[in-house]
Amino acid sequence: MKFILVVGDGMADYPIPELGNKTPLQAANKPNMDVIAAKGRSGLLKTIPDESTPGSDTAICSVLGYDPRIYCTGRGPLEAPSRGIKLGPNDTAYRCNIITEEKGAISDYSAGHITTEEAAELIAAIKKAYDKQGKIEFYAGLDYRHFLILRNFSNPEQIKCTPPHDARGIAVLEVLPKATGRGAEKTAQLLRDMIDGSREILKSHPVNIAREMSSKLPGNLIWPWGGGKKPSMPTIESKYGIKSAVISAVDLVKGIGSYAGMEIITVEGATGLYNTNYEGKADAALEALKTNDLVFVHVEAPDEAGHVRDYKLKVKTIEDLDKRLLGRIMNSISEPYAIAILPDHPTPIKTGTHSREPVPFSIAAPYFKADGVRAFDEVSAKKGAFSLVENDYLISLLLSK
Ligand SMILES: [Zn+2]
Repeated sequence: MKFILVVGDGMADYPIPELGNKTPLQAANKPNMDVIAAKGRSGLLKTIPDESTPGSDTAICSVLGYDPRIYCTGRGPLEAPSRGIKLGPNDTAYRCNIITEEKGAISDYSAGHITTEEAAELIAAIKKAYDKQGKIEFYAGLDYRHFLILRNFSNPEQIKCTPPHDARGIAVLEVLPKATGRGAEKTAQLLRDMIDGSREILKSHPVNIAREMSSKLPGNLIWPWGGGKKPSMPTIESKYGIKSAVISAVDLVKGIGSYAGMEIITVEGATGLYNTNYEGKADAALEALKTNDLVFVHVEAPDEAGHVRDYKLKVKTIEDLDKRLLGRIMNSISEPYAIAILPDHPTPIKTGTHSREPVPFSIAAPYFKADGVRAFDEVSAKKGAFSLVENDYLISLLLSK
């Protein structure tokens, strides 16, 4: 038996007036998702615990059966492994954005989506000023997303850092890292000093001068946030006795997969955007199933369409995922298989940000009789045989053979 888990990031949504009060999932032409629902069983999965902030870090942990309250330790440690950064048990990893400060306030969390190449030069300058190998280490990542590792700092929960995407228009001074416990005062001061000092280093950097000359936002401040220690997750193999692989363009998802002991598969042309290589991901999934029992395929595009609040684009990403990825897998696989389709969380067009409602899921497997649900969407799944589940239920149901 082979197991396939497909997540369309942020696919779930609210009814949209322009779609005749249908959700994008209800409006989309997605015969393969509907076949999974019609042949299998459906339900709702609560992926965001009440005390957690809705986002893919929390939700992907939940989907894979890891309680986010225990294992979701922060964006920093969850993303770091996919950049090859090794963390010891007492190290803290921060996500370190390159951001834009204007008139003393945070104006853009991504420095106008600065490119990887430009940001690498800026991080190199920061590294030169602050890097002390074995203590303070900076690592360049993708676009505006970089890393700051503090070796032998093990109280990240005692420093309050504000995610820059939640602080747009807010004065930098109001949202600087702040110690909330006595063990972290010195480290919080260090973070504030480095943020402060980065202003001077980045202001006159040739990359920023060139960006400003072409009317682009400068990357003029570093912003550490999402700090935490690496989670000690039991692997999927140790929990379920199966070999697994993950296919995603997103560092966060690959990082969680790597802690879970999954094989990390990189697909050429997998971008995390609308132009992603759907067929390439499908083919990679089929290939991965030759040596793995479970393959987890993650597609970021619907989430991005939700963030830019484009309902037509969201419908298209769902249709592309259905036809070019799901259909391609389902039409080509020759062995008996179980397959699950779901979003990780909703990213409603109405708000353009993540929300916490339970998500619809459908699982088709030889060991499940159909429950009468005919389509895969938020409304139909409510009538499914599984009703509302949480924790590791989804993965246990999928693997229940
Ligand atoms: Zn998102």
